[in-house]
Amino acid sequence: MAKKNVCDFCGAIDTPSNPVIAGDNAKICEACAKSAYEIIASHKNEQNNDKAELKENKATEPMLTPKEMKSILDEYVIGQNKAKKVLSVAVYNHYKRIFKQELLGDETELSKSNVLLIGPTGSGKTLLAQTIARYLDVPLAIADATSLTEAGYVGDDVENVVTRLIQAANGDVKKAEQGIIFIDEIDKIARMSENRSITRDVSGEGVQQALLKIVEGSLVNVPPKGGRKHPTNEAIQLDTTNVLFICGGAFDGLKDIIARREGGNILGFNQTKKTKQEQDAVVEDVEADDLVKYGLIPELIGRLHMTAVLQEIDEDAMIHILTEPKNALIKQYQKLFKLDDVTLEFEEDALKAIAKAAIERKTGARGLRSILEEVMLDIMFELPEYKNKTITITKEVVEDFKEPKIVTKEVA
Ligand code: ADP
Repeated sequence: MAKKNVCDFCGAIDTPSNPVIAGDNAKICEACAKSAYEIIASHKNEQNNDKAELKENKATEPMLTPKEMKSILDEYVIGQNKAKKVLSVAVYNHYKRIFKQELLGDETELSKSNVLLIGPTGSGKTLLAQTIARYLDVPLAIADATSLTEAGYVGDDVENVVTRLIQAANGDVKKAEQGIIFIDEIDKIARMSENRSITRDVSGEGVQQALLKIVEGSLVNVPPKGGRKHPTNEAIQLDTTNVLFICGGAFDGLKDIIARREGGNILGFNQTKKTKQEQDAVVEDVEADDLVKYGLIPELIGRLHMTAVLQEIDEDAMIHILTEPKNALIKQYQKLFKLDDVTLEFEEDALKAIAKAAIERKTGARGLRSILEEVMLDIMFELPEYKNKTITITKEVVEDFKEPKIVTKEVA
C-alpha cells in the first residue's frame, strides 16, 4: 500500500477534506497552509501600519521654515506682508511646540501661538488660513463666529466646529487634534460697549466664553459618526490643546477707538487732515485694551497672542490679484479658453475697469469673481464657435458689455 503524505508542520495525514501538498523537500496540509497565509498577511499589515504612522509623523513635523512658508503664501496671496510674516512664525512655533517640545525635556512650557487677523472683508484672511492648511497637510475647519450660539459652555455649536475639523481630517481624531480652526467675523460677537452704536443682543459675551474654552484647550465631546444609526458608539473626545486657532474680523470702528486713545481724532481735526491711508494705518497701532474697548473679553484676547493687520485691497492690488497668484482668475479663464483652442487676452484698461467695479462693491477681492463671471458669460456661451481665434477683452466689454475684439489666429 502506498505511503500517505503527512504534513511536516502538524503531522496530519492526507485526506480529501485536508489534502497534503508535497514539495521537493517538505509537505504541508491545507489547514497549515491557510494559517501560514494568515500569519504572513497580518505581519505585513503591521509593517504597513508602522510605515504609515512614520509617514504621518513626518508630514506633521515643522518641515517649512517661516521664510519658506511665507514664500508659499506669496504665490497665492497678494500683499499683506505683515500678516504673512506673523502667520508663518506662528505656524512654525506652533508645530515646533507640538512636535519638538519634548526633545529639550525642560520645564519651560511653550504656550500656543493663536493669531488674530484684523482686516476688511475680502482682504485675504481666509485665503491665508486655507493656503497654510493645504501646505502643511493639516485639517482646517472654517467657522463663522456669528453662527455660534452660547448653548452652555462648550455647547452644541462650538462642538460643531470641532466636528467639522474631524471631518476635514477624514475622521482621524489624532490628526484633527493638530489641525487649524479659523473663526471668521470674531468682531461680530463683541459685546456692546458704550463706544459703539451697533445694536444686537448681548449674547456676544456668552459665545466668547464658549469659544474661549476651546481656544484655551479642552476636551470636547463630539457625537460619533453615523449618529443615531450606531447608538452604541461612544461619543468621540477631541482635545483642542494643540489646535491652532486663527481668528479674523473686520473690526469696523476700531480705528476710532485707537485714534481716541492716541489723543486725536480719526479724521485728524486739530491736526493736519489725514488721508484715507493714514487713517487706515492707525489700526496697526492696535493694543489689547483697544480690543477690550471694542467688546472682546480680555481672556480671549489674552489667548490670541499674535495680531496682524491686513490692508484694504486697492486698485493696484486688485489687478495683481486678477493676474498674478498661481490660480489667478485670469489664468483660470485663459486655461478654460485654451481648452477650446481660443486665446484670451485682457487689455490693461479692462483689468482696471474690473478692479474699479470690485472696489465699488465693497466686498474686497471677493467681488472680482462675480464681476468676471458677468463679463464673460456671453462670450463663454459662444466659446466653442471661436475655435482658433484670439479674443481680447477691452474696457468697453467690462463697462458696457460691448463685443470683444475677435481675430483669427495666424497659423505659424
Ligand atoms: P476675508 O478677508 O474676508 O477672509 P477671503 O480670504 O475669503 O477674504 O478672500 C475672498 C477671495 O478674494 C479669496 O478667495 C481670493 O480669491 C480673493 N483675495 C482676497 N484677498 C486676496 C489677496 N490678498 N491675494 C489674493 N487673493 C485675494
